[in-house]
Amino acid sequence: MAIMNIVKYGDPVLNNKCSPVVHFSKLESIMEDMFDSMYEAEGIGLAANQVGLNMNLFIIDVTHTDEAEDPHIFINSKIISKKGEKSFFKEGCLSLPGIALDVERPEKIVLKYQTIDAEWHENEFDGLLSRAIQHEMDHLNGIFIIDRVSEIEKIRYKKELKTIEVDSKNYLKNTYNNKEKFVL
Ligand SMILES: [Zn+2]
Repeated sequence: MAIMNIVKYGDPVLNNKCSPVVHFSKLESIMEDMFDSMYEAEGIGLAANQVGLNMNLFIIDVTHTDEAEDPHIFINSKIISKKGEKSFFKEGCLSLPGIALDVERPEKIVLKYQTIDAEWHENEFDGLLSRAIQHEMDHLNGIFIIDRVSEIEKIRYKKELKTIEVDSKNYLKNTYNNKEKFVL
């Protein structure tokens, strides 16, 4: 078991579109660490770039609801279509600690994805699972919940965002300095 650092707003790894997963053989241990990290942080979803990995991969656990009996792993996902009424729901984000925003999203999505055995699937999702998938897919495309709300709401959180960003950049700087020392 290894707990990975959850990358926060301000780290460039969260701003870019993630690359497809090609090699499935080494995913098992990454998955284990990602689940451990997500549970430790008390999240219900985690995208690979939130632990600094540039991979089109995310995990979701909504087993506390009646929507799923097991946790989900989604690899190389693509939203094929969005359906149903749009609604608002308060979302938090492990990369934006202390911020929760009412985000408007469509009710249902059709998602094409691979599972850890590299098999392709195409399924329709609704409920909390659909919402969580859309949130994690946004991460893989460099989009935050803060990008999904009005400018007015964004301005309301300006101070909090700045604090998270500065902490995130300091963390990066310190990690880099430590690596330098280690190399020397
Ligand atoms: Zn998030």
